[in-house]
Amino acid sequence: MKSVLYVLFVAIALNALAQEQSKPSTQQVTIIRAGSLIDGKAEKPRHDQVIVIRGDRIEAVSDASSAKLPDGANVIDLSQQTVLPGLIDSHTHIFLQGEHTAKGGYHENISTAPFAMRAARATVAARRALEQGFTTLRDVETEGAGYGDVGIKQAINEGYIPGPRLIVSTRAISTTGGYQLEGYAPELEMPKGAQIVDGPVEARKAAREQLDHGADWIKVYMTHRSWVGKNGELVAQPTLTVEELRAIVDETHGWGKKVACHAYSGIGLHRALDGGCDSIEHGLYLDDAAIIQMLKQGTWYVPTLSVYYTDWAPADTPDGKRDRLRASVHEVSFKKALKAGVKIVFGTDMGGIPWTEPIAQEFTRMVEFGMSPMDAIQSASSRAAAMLEKEGEIGVIAPGANADIVAVGGDPLKDIRLLENVSFVMKGGQVFRSK
Ligand SMILES: [Zn+2]
Repeated sequence: MKSVLYVLFVAIALNALAQEQSKPSTQQVTIIRAGSLIDGKAEKPRHDQVIVIRGDRIEAVSDASSAKLPDGANVIDLSQQTVLPGLIDSHTHIFLQGEHTAKGGYHENISTAPFAMRAARATVAARRALEQGFTTLRDVETEGAGYGDVGIKQAINEGYIPGPRLIVSTRAISTTGGYQLEGYAPELEMPKGAQIVDGPVEARKAAREQLDHGADWIKVYMTHRSWVGKNGELVAQPTLTVEELRAIVDETHGWGKKVACHAYSGIGLHRALDGGCDSIEHGLYLDDAAIIQMLKQGTWYVPTLSVYYTDWAPADTPDGKRDRLRASVHEVSFKKALKAGVKIVFGTDMGGIPWTEPIAQEFTRMVEFGMSPMDAIQSASSRAAAMLEKEGEIGVIAPGANADIVAVGGDPLKDIRLLENVSFVMKGGQVFRSK
């Protein structure tokens, strides 16, 4: 079955141009029979539903018993399955591949891989996300691949390659001493994985450049290195000052766009909040003051739990202790934020995790740490759509929304792991997977 699917997807990729022509016409009607429907917004599933799709949009959703079915419609029978909105991962890196240290790691990726190689790998990453039912990604920086994400997004939108809807943030911004590559002779001018700025003028200019070249969001690194402090706490080196961040936030908000801030803990995390970040990425250690401020400012929280359980250094080394501390404080922060009612959005840091692994593993962690399965699903559907200011367009199965629809066998509210194995994927009315 796997190889059949593989052939199918290769065929899809090779026939990209043909596919462009076979995009659903505005009048083509498709009907999906849903055994159980989790619409992304409602607190409870509904049973025996019919979804009417016209072209790339959902036209109607109703009980099967009362549904008026248009003549000549193409019927997709998912009456034995649970149907959900296409999933949204709000923290990915299609230009990273979980680089293995044995293969040169991050350094190899940024300093020896030709851009075409990086674009080819990003193309595969995008396809894998779609195959797994993730029909939208907020991809938070290209790690040295410049504006490659803008190009991949265009290739997807024009039908050349299969992939999710991409919300891109291009190069990201950090400060001198605040990003890789590092550890080389100081005489060498090494490429950096992010755009380096110092001072509010340079910070604002970087935001302007990135927005000018197609960034949908701006990504900022507010912390960089991290280690275990004297009292066993997680310490993170702060990067931008509040003044620098405010210049970026002010500029970006002026363009009607938002700022995502990578922030682990301490000074950098508090600067992120004081500077007006729209979303806190990772947020490994959230103290009470941070949680109160996030609630007050309506800051989104995109924890990324799973990635901190990968690649631990040996337990008795400083790095090994730090790696374990990162995971354990993240669990506590997630639970505190959940209890306090902080707006939590699904994110994985895929790319930090190889794209061959299931994206949906993050749902399992969230549920393990006390989130209800329905809440976890909403964090990757309607709540993510709200953060992305695409409410009603994506992350919901309702009239007027894009026809982004996935299905799984069984009940994911009883076993969240089922989301690791979607059986059906539709994006914008086009079927990309059906088994
Ligand atoms: Zn990341």
